[in-house]
Amino acid sequence: MQHSISVQSKTQQAIELEERYGAHNYHPLPVVLDRGLGVFVWDVDGKRYFDFLSAYSAVNQGHCHPRLVKAMREQAGEITLTSRAFYNSKLGSYAEYVCKTFGYDKMLPMNTGAEAVETALKMARRWGYEKKGIAKNAAKIIVCEGNFHGRTITIISASTDPDSNTDFGPYTQGFVTIPYNDIAALEKALEDPTVCAFLVEPIQGEAGVFVPDEDYISKAIQLCKKKNVLFMADEVQTGIARTGKLLCTEHSGERPDVVILGKAVSGGMYPVSMVLADDAVMEVFTPGSHGSTFGGNPMAARIAMEALDIVKEEKLSENAERLGHIFRSEMQQLVEEFPYVKLVRGKGLLNAVVIEARTAADGTPKSAWELCLLLRDNGLLAKPTHGDIIRFAPPLVITEEQLMECCRIIALSVRQFA
Ligand code: PLP
Repeated sequence: MQHSISVQSKTQQAIELEERYGAHNYHPLPVVLDRGLGVFVWDVDGKRYFDFLSAYSAVNQGHCHPRLVKAMREQAGEITLTSRAFYNSKLGSYAEYVCKTFGYDKMLPMNTGAEAVETALKMARRWGYEKKGIAKNAAKIIVCEGNFHGRTITIISASTDPDSNTDFGPYTQGFVTIPYNDIAALEKALEDPTVCAFLVEPIQGEAGVFVPDEDYISKAIQLCKKKNVLFMADEVQTGIARTGKLLCTEHSGERPDVVILGKAVSGGMYPVSMVLADDAVMEVFTPGSHGSTFGGNPMAARIAMEALDIVKEEKLSENAERLGHIFRSEMQQLVEEFPYVKLVRGKGLLNAVVIEARTAADGTPKSAWELCLLLRDNGLLAKPTHGDIIRFAPPLVITEEQLMECCRIIALSVRQFA
């Protein structure tokens, strides 16, 4: 055993251990990361890559941002976890900070994105019974085909993706599914008076970066308002400057009733999520009705305040907006030149390229996966989703010069993919 480990490469060793002892609920690209700084990550052999996944848009502020490392170190030496059995000295100022930043009366702190979505679902149902007067246990929540809101039993009950929900039944009831980006379908579903909420991603990230029509979100918010239904924006992936605004829904000019945030709220340092809403909605939560041992802990609060300060001070929304246009126009040139690069879509620095899968003359498969392996070999990490889509979402601290270098790496890899 000892001998076989010593002759293996560090990469192989790490992969084999993970595969041997870790559940196979992911299919990682074969690269073993060891270090990160800003837009770069390094593997165990010291090879450097541009990170174009950003931990699924959690590391918008860049890896190991020195201000976040400092905040985390300092807080770790003071106090990390108090539970909500007591007040702590950071949660109040954090709550005030996010409420003022995003423009809501109250926030409820959780840890992961899925927990925040669950929180919003519970809140919507209670609001439906206590405020809207829906008969007990009859409340429905509208969701969209192709959604991704997380992995809990209730959330996958609302999913249409067989990879997510096969053989996990019995499922949670009370969801109505409509096509995404279909206002007529929403209008029809809203006719049901037992509907309490519409839960939607402003851009469907996991599904492959599907950007709805320009006016979809604004019309959907207006329709929900008319029908006294909560519009709940899942901004776990689109939020925190990723699409060129602090919240993606800002592009619509309308304000959701409920906003769900996670991932980049902490810049990837720590699991931090939250739900934002006004008092009339949030007040349905009473002591004992919801909670989390870790939610709102002082470490999370301290890190998140620093992480949001960074987004503002380093103007990451503006950077994402500006560089997003450049990136898509560079990718569009590849679409025009290479028939197997079908299209590019996205907003800000949340983009995807669709690759046509084919088989080479020698019989080897050529899909988005193989292109991602080439990208890796050329020093850029991205991950395919749903077989033929590659999401490109670098940390938002990327500079124009770095972005242009990455476009050259992508162009080179696409050429080698011929
Ligand atoms: N909602 C959206 C839109 C997401 O993209 C994700 C994760 O990718 C989640 C919720 C779940 O977040 P987490 O993995 O932190 O539970």
